[in-house]
Amino acid sequence: MGSTSTSPFDVNRSCAEQLDANDPLASMRDQFHIPQREGGTPSVYLCGNSLGLQPKAVGPQMERLLSDWAKLGVEGHFEADPDWFSYHECFREMGARLVGGLPGEVVMMNSLTVNLHLMMVSFFRPTKKRYKILIEDRAFPSDGYATSTQLIHHGLDPKAALLIARPPSGQSTIPLATIEEILENEGERIALVLLSGVQYLTGQLFDIERITQLAQAKGCTVGWDLAHTAGNVPLELHRWNVDFAAWCNYKYLNSGPGAVGGCFVHERHGHNLDLPRFAGWWGNDPETRFQMDEVADFIPRAGADGWQISNPSIFSMAPLLSSLRIFDEVGMEALRRKSELLTGYLEFLLKELGDGVVSIVSPDQPSERGCQLSLLVNDDPKMRLAALGQAGITCDFRPPNVIRAAPVPLYNTFQDVWEFAMALSHRIS
Ligand SMILES: *Cc1c(COP(=O)(O)O)cnc(C)c1O
Repeated sequence: MGSTSTSPFDVNRSCAEQLDANDPLASMRDQFHIPQREGGTPSVYLCGNSLGLQPKAVGPQMERLLSDWAKLGVEGHFEADPDWFSYHECFREMGARLVGGLPGEVVMMNSLTVNLHLMMVSFFRPTKKRYKILIEDRAFPSDGYATSTQLIHHGLDPKAALLIARPPSGQSTIPLATIEEILENEGERIALVLLSGVQYLTGQLFDIERITQLAQAKGCTVGWDLAHTAGNVPLELHRWNVDFAAWCNYKYLNSGPGAVGGCFVHERHGHNLDLPRFAGWWGNDPETRFQMDEVADFIPRAGADGWQISNPSIFSMAPLLSSLRIFDEVGMEALRRKSELLTGYLEFLLKELGDGVVSIVSPDQPSERGCQLSLLVNDDPKMRLAALGQAGITCDFRPPNVIRAAPVPLYNTFQDVWEFAMALSHRIS
């Protein structure tokens, strides 16, 4: 039974059924292919933090693209619908709404780590006095490789120049005060702060606005890796004055394995055509892009578009188009409302199970986390995983003992969450 009288939840399945019946977004699930268990019933998929599910609209969108290519050949660059020449512009407004940017501050291109490198080419400009990069403890490996090789590229030693914000001893997440202290002590030597919006391992959501403000006040440039953040929580990158951000579109954004990534460049940089960058024809002013008979000066397009290099993979952009239309229709505010309830319900059930099974690593304030809860398995992770597997539940395991469960508001149900919690508490030998 519910532990407090004020909780809107109880542990019976009927509570989950009632929450589903009251869910204004319940019908969104029908727009997705849900992987099935043996026997043909839908599985419980809590792995949207790793690879989002396929919107049903993707199939027809891809078929149309194949058919356009078959019928039109090269003419598809202008005659396909949407035409391939300006395909990336389909995301101008939608992409901006997704992350709270202005149209022109967002572009879909390349993939996440590539975009981080391209952003660092422009925004990590170390000097003798200011040359460090600040990342968080246990950052996603790719972010560690990207920042340390950027340092090496500039002749710097990552051991001295890569600063790592760590949780205080005995804690698993990083308080704002820790970051403030680092900025206080090291701010004048930090060229770039590059943190994750939502930390992939702990599920902690950093205060992006406040950290950006504090770091910029110390003269640092501030970029955000939003791999676990975009499509998960509402963002206001323009208003928060973030310098740049990059994310992948295959996790919460459901655009398929290895989907094209997203990139945000604040307007004030987007219009600074003197910034150093690695250029290619797609970032050039389209009016002169095709002047191939001479080596012309590179004239960057204004805004984030000016960081594009190659002509984009349309096959990678088509699923993104289908998927972002869904986010655009529902809106991040409505998604977040359901998400807080769904994750709150998961938290309630897990606490009811008691500490013997799992402890929650993610912050317990909804404002400090996205939809994912990271769970430390207190007894036998192999046994717990086997129980989940037997119940047809997909979630993710980070050795030695962390289970990450991400109920996503677009396609997960309260009954999914209930089934997960029940299977997790079930002992098998
Ligand atoms: C998923 C993820 C990546 C993956 O990078 P790709 O370049 O898309 O392969 C990088 N960083 C973080 C924080 C991630 O969560």
